[in-house]
Amino acid sequence: MSLIRIDIISAVPQLIEPMITQSIIGRAISKGVVEIYVHNLHDFAADKFRHIDDAPYGGGAGMIIKCEPVFACIEKLQSERTYNEVIYMSPDGEMLTQELANQISLSGNIIILAGHYKGIDQRIRDILINREVSIGDYVLSGGELPSLVMIDAIVRLLPGAIGDSESALEDAFQNGLLDSPHYTRPAEFRGMKVPDVLLGGNHSAVRSWRQQQAIDKTQRLRPDLLDKID
Ligand code: SAH
Repeated sequence: MSLIRIDIISAVPQLIEPMITQSIIGRAISKGVVEIYVHNLHDFAADKFRHIDDAPYGGGAGMIIKCEPVFACIEKLQSERTYNEVIYMSPDGEMLTQELANQISLSGNIIILAGHYKGIDQRIRDILINREVSIGDYVLSGGELPSLVMIDAIVRLLPGAIGDSESALEDAFQNGLLDSPHYTRPAEFRGMKVPDVLLGGNHSAVRSWRQQQAIDKTQRLRPDLLDKID
């Protein structure tokens, strides 16, 4: 049994499929850490022309995703198993942060709805959606990239998803700080030397150096983060 099952609903599933077969997400799926299914909204259209969108009531530009296919798809999934989260990706949602990714990574089954065009019928949001998530204060043309951004942030936290299980916990934001600088061989490149402390093999000195670097960098680039640490 995987730790988490994610069902993504999209009008353009072709955008999602290549991303989930590669890299960490692809590996996590093949290791059985996560199951991800992509559903094509057009398969749930109520009419034979497979319409999933229509013009907005009250006029205006852009098309709106209709209620019928979204209700049909989500209700079918919910009749098959229980979902802990039904998330709509939306620029007006709650901001995706490391803390939110941590929280969602502990949910069981998740449905993610990617919008398209001008957005989705409000009744879908009122009835079916229990959480709305934004990946930033800018507008993209579809919810596919935002869904993938959120899924990547969640999946890499699942135990077994990345080789060195320590590593995800040491990333930026996990302790409220930005990450410290990293170096690899050679010890000197074009006259630029790796800091001595990293070459010395003194683990506690390395730990203190990294911690200090992380604090200094956070102070310099994101002082707002320091205010949030106890
Ligand atoms: N009219 C809407 C934007 C629609 S953009 C508005 O102004 O709020 C089309 C779709 O792209 C949305 O339905 C949503 O699923 C997705 N999307 C665009 N920008 C996003 C963002 N910053 N975060 C999450 N989803 C986003």
